[in-house]
Amino acid sequence: MSVEPEEPVVQEARDDAPESGTENARKPHYEEERGGAGIPDNFQRLWTPHRMAYIKGENKPSGGGSGDGCPFCEIPKMSDEEGLVVARGHSVFAVLNLYPYNSGHLMVVPFRHVADYTELDEAEYGELATFTQRSLTALRKASGAQGFNVGMNLGLVAGAGIAAHLHQHVVPRWGGDTNFMPVVGHTKVLPQLLRDTRQLLADAWPGA
Ligand SMILES: [Zn+2]
Repeated sequence: MSVEPEEPVVQEARDDAPESGTENARKPHYEEERGGAGIPDNFQRLWTPHRMAYIKGENKPSGGGSGDGCPFCEIPKMSDEEGLVVARGHSVFAVLNLYPYNSGHLMVVPFRHVADYTELDEAEYGELATFTQRSLTALRKASGAQGFNVGMNLGLVAGAGIAAHLHQHVVPRWGGDTNFMPVVGHTKVLPQLLRDTRQLLADAWPGA
């Protein structure tokens, strides 16, 4: 995963960009306009400023219990739109990551507050696997994802952001997605973009 810049970064102008000095040259170039950085996905754009909120510790639980503000225990109580839930099963649910590494970054999470994979019962790990498969199918259908990083970080030392409640990451990848500079500004547009992405994936979910 790339390291996010501390300050917003404006993508450099392309060769065919307007001459500097014109009004357009001063505008940031958005994801869908970028050239030479791989095949665009069908999501509107990628961004990074939201990850600063994560780095600053917003929405971190105060302790390891489910009553300590664990976001994965709170999300299922919300509406799908509010919680960015893509699909709900009997034992697990799929939700968009609020601090995505890539556009369309999903997580498959058991409803039960458990930290370790060995603690999952048969129904839970069975449905976790099924929902992981469906996540791949939905992401391919909705966004033409060309590859994926799938897996979980167990324990703080392994990099788990919310170590007390396990979650399987499903991160879609596209050719060239690691070498563009995420673009900026318009951070207040972010919630709407995530809502749009949630709807796209909910519609593409197998059996939806
Ligand atoms: Zn929890």
